[in-house]
Amino acid sequence: MRSSQPSDAQDDDGPDGLFRLDEILTGPPRPAVSGPLFRDSPRARRMLSIREIHAEPAAAASPRGRQVLAGFPDAEVVPADSHWRIPELHGNRGNAERWVRIKSTVLVLGEKKTLTVRPNGRSADWIAPGTANGCAMACAYCYVPRRKGYANPITVFTNIDRIIARISNHVVGLGPKKEPNQCDPSAWVYDIGENNDCSVDALISENTADLVHAFARWPTAKASFATKFVNPDLLLLEPRGRTRVRLSVMPPEDSRLLDIRTSPVEDRIAAAEDFLDAGYEVHFNLSPVVIRPGWKQAWAELLQHMDDVLPQRVKEQAAAEVIMLTHNRDLHDVNMAWHPRAEEALWRPDLQQPKGSENGGWNVRYRNGTKAAAVETVRGLGRTHAPWLTIRYAF
Ligand code: SF4
Repeated sequence: MRSSQPSDAQDDDGPDGLFRLDEILTGPPRPAVSGPLFRDSPRARRMLSIREIHAEPAAAASPRGRQVLAGFPDAEVVPADSHWRIPELHGNRGNAERWVRIKSTVLVLGEKKTLTVRPNGRSADWIAPGTANGCAMACAYCYVPRRKGYANPITVFTNIDRIIARISNHVVGLGPKKEPNQCDPSAWVYDIGENNDCSVDALISENTADLVHAFARWPTAKASFATKFVNPDLLLLEPRGRTRVRLSVMPPEDSRLLDIRTSPVEDRIAAAEDFLDAGYEVHFNLSPVVIRPGWKQAWAELLQHMDDVLPQRVKEQAAAEVIMLTHNRDLHDVNMAWHPRAEEALWRPDLQQPKGSENGGWNVRYRNGTKAAAVETVRGLGRTHAPWLTIRYAF
């Protein structure tokens, strides 16, 4: 009997009568996108103005690496033995200005060595091997820097063909989804942005575009990524309903305090219609939910705003995840040095309990009773102010 978890042995065969691996891998090339691109605009350059690129030699020599380097002809290229070991980039030393400067002016090129597809079951069925790691934005609660340190510039993985081939093998090995679940009624959902923001990555390379194009050809799978950045260049792609964009939203006053360098929440909500019309599925991440004085009223107003401005066609297909804040002791200490006001909202020992994390640090999350009550509050606010918004899961 076929297991629901594909083994490598299954990966190359493909299920009978579905589609052939070579057809998936050799589908038509992605149409070239032409015209003025947002990524060449002054606004995009405010997010990323790359002056220094640390590159593994093989990554720099690869086709994707050469494309990235060609996009930043004035950047200094610094050879790197390993994209993981660049101490001057990855520590927590220095202040926020230094981190943001690194995030916006430095890139790393590397090759993804371990191409693992991991089961998830919450946001997605599977976590795909990432095509990037790190972020040019600087949310005060972000879990991505916990391994590399807060100055966590984007590493672009250049072996995109191998990454897509790995996902393709996995898709073929699984075959069609037989039972609906909360991730999706019929498609296997792959999260393609676990440690990165695919919308910002698309300012740098074609990796996001290649993934969107690949999933558009796979009838049993769907890509999914959360984003806090509106990149209009993604509207020029042809996702054909096989990529789910999860627009992350929170009350604007929380976002202004915590979501450093991101697009305003109002802009993310306003973009939903454009993304739907371009062929994306559009969901929302109500996250993170931060308990602070006035939070219930703020979330009520946010949901009411969504109800007021989103067109019916967005509402008909939308669903949401609700994610309560998880914070981290080390990150709290780092933030206290540069953004203590954020910690007034994020660090609440009176409401939080510690939880050991996979990499040995201490995470904190809201105590069980507090969290359960808050989740129920958000669900209730959704029922009242945005009854069309299915909550896929909440935790
Ligand atoms: S946008 Fe996402 S990945 Fe980037 S800093 Fe914010 S939470 Fe982290």
